[in-house]
Amino acid sequence: MPPFFPDDVAKAAFIRSDGECECLNNTHKHYGRCNNHLTFVMRGLDLPGGWEAVPIDAAGPPVLSNCQAICRDCLANGNGS
Ligand SMILES: [Zn+2]
Ligand SMILES: [Zn+2]
Repeated sequence: MPPFFPDDVAKAAFIRSDGECECLNNTHKHYGRCNNHLTFVMRGLDLPGGWEAVPIDAAGPPVLSNCQAICRDCLANGNGS
């Protein structure tokens, strides 16, 4: 499956995130914002620093306002399926 977001939107989300996971899923083990460290070049990889640009609304448009930078731990816990 190709990435939902084009590279420029993913990069903008990464910059907005300050390089930290933006997940707010309260079913995860973090309280509030996750803030796990993300490494920009590790997008799409299940490795330390890995992350992906995930839509808030999967039926929504591929724009920054619908985009969250999410770490691999939160992806594994069911964010942004
Ligand atoms: Zn996270
Ligand atoms: Zn999370």
